[in-house]
Amino acid sequence: MRIEGVPASAGYAEGPLFDLDRPPAIYASKATSTEEKTSLEAAIGKAVSRLATIVETADSDAAGILEFHIAMLEDDALSGPAFASIASGRTADAAWREALDAEIAGYEASDQDYFRARATDLRDIRDQVLRALTEDGGATAPTGAILCGEDIAPTRFLETDWSHGGGIALKAGSTASHVAMLARSRGVPMVVGLREPLAGLAGMALLDAEHGNIVLAPSPAEIGSFRQSSSSFAARQGKARTFLARPAATRAGTAVRVQVNIADPSDVDGIDIATCDGVGLMRTEFLFGRILPDEETQYRAYRKVLEWAGDKPVTIRTVDAGGDKPVPGFTVEEGNPFLGLRGIRLSLARLDIFRVQIRALLRAAPHGNLRVMFPMIAIADEYERAAALFAEEQAALAARGVAHGMPPLGIMVEVPSVAIAPEAFAGVAFFSIGSNDLMQYVMAAARDNAAVAHLNSVRHPAVLRLIGSVVAFGRDNSIPVSLCGDAGGDPVAIPSLLEAGLRDLSVAPAQLAMAKAAIADVSV
Ligand code: PEP
Ligand code: MG
Repeated sequence: MRIEGVPASAGYAEGPLFDLDRPPAIYASKATSTEEKTSLEAAIGKAVSRLATIVETADSDAAGILEFHIAMLEDDALSGPAFASIASGRTADAAWREALDAEIAGYEASDQDYFRARATDLRDIRDQVLRALTEDGGATAPTGAILCGEDIAPTRFLETDWSHGGGIALKAGSTASHVAMLARSRGVPMVVGLREPLAGLAGMALLDAEHGNIVLAPSPAEIGSFRQSSSSFAARQGKARTFLARPAATRAGTAVRVQVNIADPSDVDGIDIATCDGVGLMRTEFLFGRILPDEETQYRAYRKVLEWAGDKPVTIRTVDAGGDKPVPGFTVEEGNPFLGLRGIRLSLARLDIFRVQIRALLRAAPHGNLRVMFPMIAIADEYERAAALFAEEQAALAARGVAHGMPPLGIMVEVPSVAIAPEAFAGVAFFSIGSNDLMQYVMAAARDNAAVAHLNSVRHPAVLRLIGSVVAFGRDNSIPVSLCGDAGGDPVAIPSLLEAGLRDLSVAPAQLAMAKAAIADVSV
């Protein structure tokens, strides 16, 4: 049986299915309340040490979340009520569940986003300890397993050992989720939006995350053709790696710049700067985790990336919170967040937060070849107001004698109004096309909704025509145009993008080699 879905991270996995939604094993109650107490203490200890192990290898974004979980687990105020109820005769699992559920209900009832968001953390913590309490040896997936279910939590992804293969198959999920980004950067095959339920499945399966499907109980013929596709994919990847060290060029020798997209400053640790032309997009909203980062934290993050890149350009985007990227304490709750207070709209509404980021960027500028761009620009007034804030903050830094530089200021082209009428933006330093959003706004199909994912193609003539006309406008007005949406790293989309006139792409680091190989195959 084959179930179709949407590819979220390319690759192939063959292995046993592991049901992410399996009910937890039954807790074996103890004879005395002292033993129950010991049992809960041990389970909390196990959950803490498990998290501590993951922190060691996590990037700083993920580590921040996990350290927060550890701190909560070690807080007596959280576990106190559970121990009290054990003392009065409850079993460890019931006491813990009831204590945490009561706490979660309190947070859920809050009218503040920040506290409601913490309910998710508490649920995660509750389940980690319950899992440790009922450990039956079968709760961890066997190596090389295909994890399947409704959705997968980031902690579950991070605690899984992917070094011996395996993959992810989800009924819900989205290609733009945080877990999908992690999967792509670690090369873990992942399919989302499967059209049939996967509950209660077991046995062998074949996950084709290049085309987006999973085959259950495969026949020998299906296994044969799967292995052929899988080894052809591996061969293409191997061949692609030989392109990594060389500058990208088409078959006829036309040079194409290929930069990388990053989110966390630690992303650059695994990239050799010689293999790319710089950073085409640093998404700063991931620095805005649970706590809004102060100026110093941001300055250090930007400076690290600039110093890594040397004289190659680094394009840092001001915070694009909102839409599918909520930030507690910053974004607002809206009925239709993709069309709401997102990106530059939110920054201009919260100047207290925006000015901090602007100062950090101005101070980081002398440490490399910085360019700054604004997300979700729809009208020229937004660009002009943002540019004026840069000028104001620059004057203030100069007056205080603080070292700084003024970077070129450009915009994302991801709202159709800009792509259709770019003439209002003749004064910007550069355009960077955000195909992820441009597609969803042109096709009226939310980028995080698996049910309409088939509509979101950069190769739709409407999207390509807009890209082509932005490139032409840039050429006629000497404004550089690049593209930093995920389509830039998609070998299937690359020929159309070059055909539309683009010569400057920015791609996920894991896509760098494949993108260069795909470019070398294009004759334009
Ligand atoms: C885009 O929209 O294509 C883009 C690069 O930005 P993000 O995916 O962060 O919205
Ligand atoms: Mg975007």
